[in-house]
Amino acid sequence: MKYFFENGLRFECQRCGRCCTGEPGTVYVAPDEIKAIAEFLKIDESRFKKKYLYPYKDSYSIKELSDGSCIFYKDNSCLIYPVRPRQCKAYPFWLKNLRNEDRWNQVARECPGVGKGRVYDVEEILEIVSISPI
Ligand code: SF4
Repeated sequence: MKYFFENGLRFECQRCGRCCTGEPGTVYVAPDEIKAIAEFLKIDESRFKKKYLYPYKDSYSIKELSDGSCIFYKDNSCLIYPVRPRQCKAYPFWLKNLRNEDRWNQVARECPGVGKGRVYDVEEILEIVSISPI
């Protein structure tokens, strides 16, 4: 199968926070990630769920502030960065963003990191896509 990104795609996060703020969205948090984040924040798992998550699909999603920002995005950084969910780690290499070149070009308009930094080759991109829940 031929992908439009056969020659790879350039990406380097610019830490602008656009993907963590703005329009409301969902961030799937798997059970193993819930455990890791709760441990990182040093709070009890059930309290963590109640305070920061809401039920989503077969697990949970992260709550947002009224302006659509992720509840963990503060002072231009992610408070849980080392243990952030796979969905966040994988962005912008989500399956839905890689369906075709038009969609990728649209992502490039939303994410200033696209087109910058090193080239991710096709194998790396497919590996990242495979860990992302969306
Ligand atoms: S929108 Fe792109 S460049 Fe900005 S924080 Fe998100 S991944 Fe990084």
